[in-house]
Amino acid sequence: MSEGISFEFSEDHLMLREVARKFTDSEVRPLAQQIDENEEVPLELIKKAAELDLLGIPFPEQYGGAGLGEVGYCVLLEEVARGCNSTAVIIGGQVSLGGAAIHIFGNEDQKRKYLPLLIRGERIAAFALTEPEAGSDAANIKTTAVKDGNDYVLNGNKTFTTNGSIAGVIITFAVTDKSKGTRGITAFIVESDMPGYRAGKHEKKMGIRGTYTTDLFFEDMRVPRENILGAEGEGFRVAMMTLDSGRTSLAAQCLGSAKELLDLSIKYAKERVQFGKPIADKQAIQFMLADMATDVYVMESILYRTAWMSDQKMKYSRESAIVKLFCSEAVCRVADKAVQIHGGMGYMREYPIERFYRDVRINRIYEGTNEIQRIIVARDLLKRGRY
Ligand SMILES: Cc1cc2nc3c(=O)[nH]c(=O)nc-3n(C[C@H](O)[C@H](O)[C@H](O)COP(=O)(O)OP(=O)(O)OC[C@H]3O[C@@H](n4cnc5c(N)ncnc54)[C@H](O)[C@@H]3O)c2cc1C
Repeated sequence: MSEGISFEFSEDHLMLREVARKFTDSEVRPLAQQIDENEEVPLELIKKAAELDLLGIPFPEQYGGAGLGEVGYCVLLEEVARGCNSTAVIIGGQVSLGGAAIHIFGNEDQKRKYLPLLIRGERIAAFALTEPEAGSDAANIKTTAVKDGNDYVLNGNKTFTTNGSIAGVIITFAVTDKSKGTRGITAFIVESDMPGYRAGKHEKKMGIRGTYTTDLFFEDMRVPRENILGAEGEGFRVAMMTLDSGRTSLAAQCLGSAKELLDLSIKYAKERVQFGKPIADKQAIQFMLADMATDVYVMESILYRTAWMSDQKMKYSRESAIVKLFCSEAVCRVADKAVQIHGGMGYMREYPIERFYRDVRINRIYEGTNEIQRIIVARDLLKRGRY
């Protein structure tokens, strides 16, 4: 038999799915409504994820990780997002943004110092790139880092930082040489107890309300030179490559949400009786379920193919942009149909559908808006001159 394409998950990935599903069913889903109402994921929940070794899934075993790569990490986030998007997003900030930046660009000392802390859940991580004047135009950041002896002195502020107020380790970006454009941006690992660091208030949001989104302020904050992540001037590359991984796992959250919405819709369509029969008998409802399943199938296929490319160390910037773009739009289509199938119940806050409908909308905005993803894909096509 010739070797070819395999769509099998490994035994380890299947076992991980089981653990993640159990964690979601017993710990996460039962709290999801309360998390949304209180606008706060209890930090004990993140500790429990750490106790189950879930915060180190993609990282090598030598740092305390599970060594299950991007595929394993997507399995985890898919399962957690089925229960609660806020919880999945906090794990995402910890692992695929903060942790991944250190894993990809950290030197050996930095990896040994920070990765075990993050994996054990002793510190929460954040990734602070966005500023008030630099959202899509990320290269326009104004935060500066000026060399002073063995330190850099950072001044500026970041906005919309996920995990901002709970983070102990923050990957951030500052201009070290304005004349060099994107090559004059440097990435730093900042610790929240460094003098001059301050987090702002918890922003109130439409969805993923349990996540901690805050401004960060750096006022004459001294950061030792050894906390530069990557080389001086390499910060923009650090940000963009970290986001490749972040965008893939964001799509895993979209997939988990879409599967949950589809399952809830199938169940409701079979139970809800109108005109003397379950609404599932109506072709209008069946067509919506079929369209939802079509989106789920495509999402699952392209997501795991792209996660596999990442694990094979292939270049996958264009693919991660496509996956982010498709899955974030597909999950909104699925959520819209789920509301429609549930009728008035889909609009009620006591039922999870409306929470998912609000939660999934963010995926088209953060980690680069979908307009920016289209720019990335189109630029790549035009540069190569063919698909
Ligand atoms: C809940 C939440 C959590 C976040 N978490 C983080 C985080 O942890 N770390 C972090 O660094 N950032 C984070 N962000 C910031 C997020 O990445 C930005 O909001 C996003 O990149 C868009 O930037 P902006 O909001 O400034 O929108 P803008 O850039 O002002 O965009 C506004 C609109 O203009 C469009 N637009 C802009 N430029 C172009 C163009 N060239 N061509 C076509 N259309 C364009 C956009 O697509 C969008 O539709 C978070 C945001 C939110 C809302």
